[in-house]
Amino acid sequence: MRILIVEDELKIAQSVAAALVAANYTVDAVSDGEEAWFRGDTENYDLVILDLGLPKMDGLSVLKRWRTAERTMPVLVLTARGAWMERVEGIDAGADDYLVKPFQIEELIARVRALIRRSVGQGSALLTAGGLAVDTRQMRIQMGGVPVAVSPLEYRLISYLIHHKGRVVPPTELIGHLYGDDDARDANALEAVVTRLRKKLGQDLIETRRGFGYIVSDLRA
Ligand code: CA
Repeated sequence: MRILIVEDELKIAQSVAAALVAANYTVDAVSDGEEAWFRGDTENYDLVILDLGLPKMDGLSVLKRWRTAERTMPVLVLTARGAWMERVEGIDAGADDYLVKPFQIEELIARVRALIRRSVGQGSALLTAGGLAVDTRQMRIQMGGVPVAVSPLEYRLISYLIHHKGRVVPPTELIGHLYGDDDARDANALEAVVTRLRKKLGQDLIETRRGFGYIVSDLRA
């Protein structure tokens, strides 16, 4: 899952980024409205954390432009304490949720998890498919009731596929959601991660649809 942080206060941006990385999300961060608009318009994020008071273009304008252009990723707006009008305007402009500064980082992470789940139609923090159970709160995986140790990248990959259970996910989409700006992105590396996961989770769980992508589903071959 890949998240864009838009925040011009460096300390907040850094602490939010650190907490998201610790929670195993891939994170990009920008500090002005124009760059934010461009990134959200051209990259596929699973969620955006958007401060409203930003240089170059304010957060509300950024959000309105995205929604007008039918960019539908969930957006969590950050607002100043007492600025209730901002919150109303934010929700009217298409924000999915908001947090008032200063906030507890644990609350931010919980809301991020819930928003991402809701955006793909998953109600519970425990996601299951074909014997696999992914606990998105504890970042733990079980297969047939047995805990399985996975690397952060392996976790991100299986977590993305199970969030999108029943849909074939193209490799380009997976790469876009697993890796940040500074990481190497290539399809062979992705295939290697899938191979490692199959060794740990069984050969049938992640299906390859040649020429289309990967799918995790409830229906077992
Ligand atoms: Ca600000």
